[in-house]
Amino acid sequence: GKGAAMVTAVAQRLASRRRDVDDTLAGFALSTAQLQQVKEKMRRELELGLRKESHGSASVKMLPSYVYRTPDGTERGKFLALDLGGTNFRVLVVKIRSGIRKSVRMYNKIYAIPLEIMQGTGEELFDHIVQCISDFLDYMGMRNTCLPLGFTFSFPCRQTGIDKGILVNWTKGFKATDCEGNDVVDMLREAIKRRNEFDLDIVAVVNDTVGTMMTCAYEDPKCEIGLIAGTGSNVCYMEEMQNIESVEGDQGRMCVNTEWGGFGDNANIEDIRTRFDREVDEGSFNVGKQRFEKMTSGMYLGEIVRQILIDLTRRGLLFRGRITEPLKTRGIFETKFLSQIESDRLALLQVRSILQHLGLDSTCDDSIVVKEVCGTVSRRAARICGAGMAAVVDKIRENRGLDHLDITVGVDGTLYKLHPHFSRILKETVKELAPKCNVDFMLSEDGSGKGAALITAVARQHFRNT
Ligand code: BGC
Ligand code: MG
Repeated sequence: GKGAAMVTAVAQRLASRRRDVDDTLAGFALSTAQLQQVKEKMRRELELGLRKESHGSASVKMLPSYVYRTPDGTERGKFLALDLGGTNFRVLVVKIRSGIRKSVRMYNKIYAIPLEIMQGTGEELFDHIVQCISDFLDYMGMRNTCLPLGFTFSFPCRQTGIDKGILVNWTKGFKATDCEGNDVVDMLREAIKRRNEFDLDIVAVVNDTVGTMMTCAYEDPKCEIGLIAGTGSNVCYMEEMQNIESVEGDQGRMCVNTEWGGFGDNANIEDIRTRFDREVDEGSFNVGKQRFEKMTSGMYLGEIVRQILIDLTRRGLLFRGRITEPLKTRGIFETKFLSQIESDRLALLQVRSILQHLGLDSTCDDSIVVKEVCGTVSRRAARICGAGMAAVVDKIRENRGLDHLDITVGVDGTLYKLHPHFSRILKETVKELAPKCNVDFMLSEDGSGKGAALITAVARQHFRNT
């Protein structure tokens, strides 16, 4: 009768909606063979970045850090540290003790970097940083103590020494003018001079991955890799000096900041990018750059989700076909919301209330689709991140001529820490793609700040010994 016909019509509509959603998300599901390819391509790019003739133009820049070893517990002293480029800007004082009382103690203060300063002039940015340091020194009552300082600066820098780093290009949300191509240590020193209130002894400029590796290595000597899966995405690891052709010397090792976020900038992973990835790229500050980062990090995953939701809505498959203001707003899906939406403990009703909170009116069916979209995007992120990591650990294993490698990765970042599935899928993928390596992951507590101090301590010992 009429009722049965209506039920059939509804069922058909649901089934066809289901198919349309599945088709849209299909491009995000990568097979093991595809992941294997990502691993192989990453491996090739790592090599290109290390070689002299390709180093300058490589998509994975492989930047030398001038950190020659991980800590061994003999480090000690009192240091200042700055941490710029993550979720917050922080100033810290770090006390490191060696020997049987081996320990690290820290005091820190968080400062906001207002959007207009992140996107203003370089002078304004560095003046603001120095203003925060000044506030911190007053707060700690340390204005007259000139401590050695380590500067964690979480952007690609071409270093020619531990205290020299030329900003290659801004990433993430930063775009202050007149900084790219300049030495960040010089810019900091000049800002200190302009203020003319205090002096600082800047010893080291450090990538956050390197800080994270050093912090975890302080606890676990097997840690020779640092990973950030947060606002941005990046990895560093201990490479053989003889393989780092852009640096003089063949003895021992040096930590290399891979800047793997730039993987794909030479268009060699277009086969796994979707039209949504291209959309996100085109709406970003750095079009065509950091393509891998834009598929794997917290700053962009929510944007990919948003682009898919817009598409589904436009096709009448979501939100009753209405594209509302919040859906048009860049950045609404922060990592913390994605993490909540994907939490298995959350009932669909709660997913709806999160969407409501973001200004998105959803039906129960809508919330199922949104959750699926989030899961699909974050799963791909974790899988290709794992494929990249598999390339790194296998390279280290081969460097050392080993059949089996036991290694620890120090990790930091909101995506890794907050997301309910990212870390598990990442680990599973590494295991699958690098079966000859046993890879442990160690969460770093406050990697950037502590790490900058440890590197400063190691650098001082190095200068004393040479
Ligand atoms: C930067 C890296 C940094 C990473 C994680 C990327 O955007 O290029 O230098 O390590 O973010 O913060
Ligand atoms: Mg060399």
